[in-house]
Amino acid sequence: MTAQPNFLLSVEGLTVSFDGFKAVDDLSFYVDENEIRVIIGPNGAGKTTVLDLICGRTKATGGSIQFRGKELTAMREHQIVHAGIGRKFQNPSIYDDLTVFENLEISFPRGRSVFGALAFKRDQEVRERVAEVAETIFLADQLDTSAEYLSHGQKQWLEIGMLLIQDPELLMLDEPVAGMSVNERKKTAELLNRITKGRSVIVIEHDMKFVEDIAHKVTVLHQGRILSEGSMERVKSDPKVVEVYLGH
Ligand code: ADP
Ligand code: MG
Repeated sequence: MTAQPNFLLSVEGLTVSFDGFKAVDDLSFYVDENEIRVIIGPNGAGKTTVLDLICGRTKATGGSIQFRGKELTAMREHQIVHAGIGRKFQNPSIYDDLTVFENLEISFPRGRSVFGALAFKRDQEVRERVAEVAETIFLADQLDTSAEYLSHGQKQWLEIGMLLIQDPELLMLDEPVAGMSVNERKKTAELLNRITKGRSVIVIEHDMKFVEDIAHKVTVLHQGRILSEGSMERVKSDPKVVEVYLGH
């Protein structure tokens, strides 16, 4: 199987079984450059497992995941991060006792060790990049705040920032607006729409208003397979989707 050159990510025939139970079953989908793809579907549909397979946390039983011509199913988790894929889990993994600045700073990719003038130049570079990312995640005024004092929503943004600072080409977010206020959800949609210049995003989400605000294309999963795929308009009016998901 060869990946179409114009897709950033090509998933083909992807399957994983846990003790004979196929959580992901012969799944194929393709993500474009600069695309925001949203994956929806009932609990247990296999959404989180798909992200686990892409980031190498779970090994596929069969099928292929091609990213920029690289076969991810043959790679380890850290190699996949290096290849340009960032993954945010449902619970934020930030350092509560560090400030916003420090949380972002420690996430800046390390190069080889440098000395003197070069180290100074690197410090400059890190500070500028931290400032830029802090602006994007609405935390520019909170750089010296200890992360423990941030609201739930701000903690989620900080973790997105910790991924952004590594400049991934594909960013994957699992239910990023769960527990957020309406206003925070709106700002998160704005944030995601802003960061897709030069990168693609895969988001798992249940909040249909939020999905509508961000999705270029929606993939509906059910029992490890695609139930429907296309524009929000299209999947929303698909009787199969209404029956197994939206109707509830
Ligand atoms: P979703 O994110 O769509 O709610 P998941 O991907 O978390 O669904 O789970 C899909 C199915 O696979 C569920 O039935 C879940 O219990 C099962 N599953 C997920 N991970 C494992 C695992 N590591 N071992 C066994 N079963 C798993
Ligand atoms: Mg899940």
